[in-house]
Amino acid sequence: MKISINNLNKVYPNGHHALKDVSMEINSGMFGLLGPNGAGKTTLMKILTLLQDHTSGDIRYDGLDINKDRKAIRTLLGYLPQDFRFFDKLKTWEFIDYAAGISGIKGKRARRDEVERLLNKVGLFEFRERMASKLSGGMKRRLGIAQAIIGNPKVIIVDEPTTGLDPAERIRFRNILSDISNNDVIIILSTHIVGDISSTCNDVALLNKGELKFRGTPEDLIEMSRSHVWQANMSDKDFQIIKEKYPIISTIPSKEGWEVQLVADQLRNIEARHMEPNLEHAYVYFMDYYLKDKMNMNSKDLF
Ligand code: ADP
Repeated sequence: MKISINNLNKVYPNGHHALKDVSMEINSGMFGLLGPNGAGKTTLMKILTLLQDHTSGDIRYDGLDINKDRKAIRTLLGYLPQDFRFFDKLKTWEFIDYAAGISGIKGKRARRDEVERLLNKVGLFEFRERMASKLSGGMKRRLGIAQAIIGNPKVIIVDEPTTGLDPAERIRFRNILSDISNNDVIIILSTHIVGDISSTCNDVALLNKGELKFRGTPEDLIEMSRSHVWQANMSDKDFQIIKEKYPIISTIPSKEGWEVQLVADQLRNIEARHMEPNLEHAYVYFMDYYLKDKMNMNSKDLF
């Protein structure tokens, strides 16, 4: 399966240009769409799921044209929207049964088998009789993924699925996605949480203000930040100056003041050493430093 996006633009009726000439290919596997709030991720997801029209550009699903072959493309898609809602009055199994009905699974027996398969897949079998409205936040999100994978779609799109989940549920959700992933399926995971991507996706795109800024593997992004990520010990006085000049990744109180992880090209006059960057460091480097053209950060001041 392959999605080809060419020169995609979206201008909202109020004139806001939410996607600017976005071009990329998405191949089978777990694909991470990363970017801060307002980057254009949801707009792109909605266009890809046919819920919203684009202004110009071309999108193909294995050769099927989004402008012409909408019906055929619809059968390929499963979608978990950010604001996933379900009917309050249904039990967990009834909701999946209902969703299976609308996606065209005919026959009581076939539906029952599909509902059981999905309940097991997302770990909700033992909660099948519970009212869906009474499930925990994480379970509701798993119910959402269950309805998105009814009928084994070839393209599964999930928008900010782990926001608000506790760490254990977040890991559980990621594991379900990894489990669904195979050579013939594209899973697009849109998120502003770097941790969601680092543990699951082998392919990443980074959107910022509607523009595609990076496309590659998480390792490529990490490589770009190498030798720009530092760990430094400093007094509180120095920290007050440093934090105005450089993106700070983390701070821990230490004997002399603070142990700080930060992004910079060079640091002078303080005790600092390079760190082995991870994807979170790389994301901060890329968004808050590289894309900002290192504004005001390389002056020949104290540090
Ligand atoms: P993300 O999902 O990355 O947070 P969105 O796609 O939701 O980003 O939004 C991208 C930009 O488009 C934001 O600046 C947002 O305010 C704007 N936007 C989203 N929907 C509309 C709309 N219906 N009308 C006008 N502007 C919109």
